[in-house]
Amino acid sequence: MNIPANNPDLKSWVEVPQNSDFPIQNIPFGVFKTAQMNTRVGSRIGDYVVDLKSLFVLGYLENLPFEAHDFDATSLNSMMKKGKKAVRDLRNRISKLLDTSHSDLQNNEHHVGQVLIPADQVTMLLPVEIGDYTDFYSSREHATNVGTMFRDPNNALLPNWLWLPVGYHGRSSSIIVSGEPIYRPKGQTRNDPEKDPTFGPTQRLDFELEMAFITFDGKPLGESISTEEAEDYIFGMCLFNDWSARDIQSWEYVPLGPFLAKNFASSLSPWIVTLDALEPFKVDNPEQAPKVLDYLKTTGQKSYDIHLEMGIQPENSENNVVCRSNFKYMYWTMVQQLAHHTVNGCNIRCGDLMGSGTISGPTEDSYGSMLELAWKGTKPLKMSDGTERKFINDHDTVIMKGYSEKNGIRIGFGEIVTKVLPTK
Ligand code: MN
Repeated sequence: MNIPANNPDLKSWVEVPQNSDFPIQNIPFGVFKTAQMNTRVGSRIGDYVVDLKSLFVLGYLENLPFEAHDFDATSLNSMMKKGKKAVRDLRNRISKLLDTSHSDLQNNEHHVGQVLIPADQVTMLLPVEIGDYTDFYSSREHATNVGTMFRDPNNALLPNWLWLPVGYHGRSSSIIVSGEPIYRPKGQTRNDPEKDPTFGPTQRLDFELEMAFITFDGKPLGESISTEEAEDYIFGMCLFNDWSARDIQSWEYVPLGPFLAKNFASSLSPWIVTLDALEPFKVDNPEQAPKVLDYLKTTGQKSYDIHLEMGIQPENSENNVVCRSNFKYMYWTMVQQLAHHTVNGCNIRCGDLMGSGTISGPTEDSYGSMLELAWKGTKPLKMSDGTERKFINDHDTVIMKGYSEKNGIRIGFGEIVTKVLPTK
């Protein structure tokens, strides 16, 4: 597929710092406001936010199927409602306007001043009004580690795991954007199986290094999306830190799965990178044995090479990167997840969010949670300020970053920065 905005030779007349997450080949979408401007839809290049509402008002988005309210909006949903082709055309248009070989916007100094806003002057908001949130459990290494710790090292994966992408329905109301702090959750725990449970702040607050994808409108109830079709229903991806309270989780999760251990907060990065922009970073799918059932079969590359890292910054200290992982370690691909999700006729809607599940790699420094990195508290991690972490402390800031890179083009996701505050 030829997507003009992906051309690696494109150069923008807007200065893009080296190693920026946002070269002209990215063109992600987000929602922002400034001290003077109400909430609106934007894109990003280098250190500037591109105000799409102003672009529209000034006539630069003509002959595309969008209206003013698609950009003069508090979420991307109205824009996303227009579907895959419309959003692709929009991204191509923005790219063209920012390209050195096109003069329309470039040569209109007055318009440039209106459209480009320094990124440090904006507040990024939750980009999507998320309807339903589904969380998968698709990293074989993660599922194996957790199964080894809590059940049986010889039968770490449950019998269904290699046959279907295991998932559960999460909660969307507590999904927050980077920058918003979280409060240490309280709950019921039973650390000593001989005693009654107790109530109080979690002692095992953990991050989960995940990515998420956002969907376009799906098909009507009763119909399914095949693996062949799935990419047409995926708008884009972002970083996702799916906070967990491990002590609450281990007591409550039987038999229906996670509940209060997971629904107190999940943190999202503010820029949604389109699936189109990630096309050049596709890699071979993981080998799947046993062979999957027909409805989960795929053709071609459906995995993506996306470097991911998680860091802990203690108060008044520096960021300590504690995990380096990669989205390509996922056993189940997004198209398989979506095909499985809808195979029973379940309808997905514009703005649904699907979490990958914690992405752990094969090595100990690529595990995607403190539970695994510090192995259930038995191997504490040293911070540069001399303190140790088994889990996340109050006043720690947890920082997730991610990017793809190939042939000198780097497409980044920005970051998620979340400070943990004491129990309210
Ligand atoms: Mn999760």
